[in-house]
Amino acid sequence: MQEAVLLNDKKILVEAIRSAREAVVNMGKELMERKLVAGSWGNISVKIADGVYAVTPSGRGYANQKPEDIVIIDSACQTLDGALTPSSESKLHTAIYAACPEAQAIIHTHSIYASALAAMRKPVPAIIEDIVQIIGGRVHCAEYALPGTQELADNAVAAMNGRKAVLLANHGAVCWGKSLEDALIVAEILEKAAQIAIICQSCGGAVELSSKDAEIMHSFYEEHYSKRQMGTEK
Ligand SMILES: [Zn+2]
Repeated sequence: MQEAVLLNDKKILVEAIRSAREAVVNMGKELMERKLVAGSWGNISVKIADGVYAVTPSGRGYANQKPEDIVIIDSACQTLDGALTPSSESKLHTAIYAACPEAQAIIHTHSIYASALAAMRKPVPAIIEDIVQIIGGRVHCAEYALPGTQELADNAVAAMNGRKAVLLANHGAVCWGKSLEDALIVAEILEKAAQIAIICQSCGGAVELSSKDAEIMHSFYEEHYSKRQMGTEK
């Protein structure tokens, strides 16, 4: 029988905790390589069960991170397991898990073009088909709040508006996915769309897709492509 522990009144397999920690560490290196984060900025989390999350520690770089550095927290951001302090943005993560039941993983990036639009407090417009297919449409910029605060978390959730991403004013972006890999795709597509938006704005502006067309494309993607990627549809 597989070994299990009791966390937050839930029986959790030790293997599930180990693989979540390992996945978070690997994703940190991936984000560094893809230049979506720098140094110790940004953070990553994975949902192990309702109210049990694996999150990157506060103020530690990704390069030398080890699985045991990843902190296991509950919905109130209290440590359930781990020696390090959980990310200062843990409230942002737990608020999104509470608001988006489908979210299985969250990546908070400080990528350049998404941050540039966040600094202008402008949305990432729905000007390219992949942003509407994958993220759901225009990605809004949340009202400004200081980093690490409950207000930042609340503002992010309020501005998400059914999308899988939101910009944090003068700060960066936060993306969720149905898996860690899905959250990475969202982060990459968001960054690409932000870059295209800035290029278009400097050349006279782009034409935004209609919300009706965006809805059709997003529904089709959710119905077919995402299932194919997850291996549940051929
Ligand atoms: Zn940040």
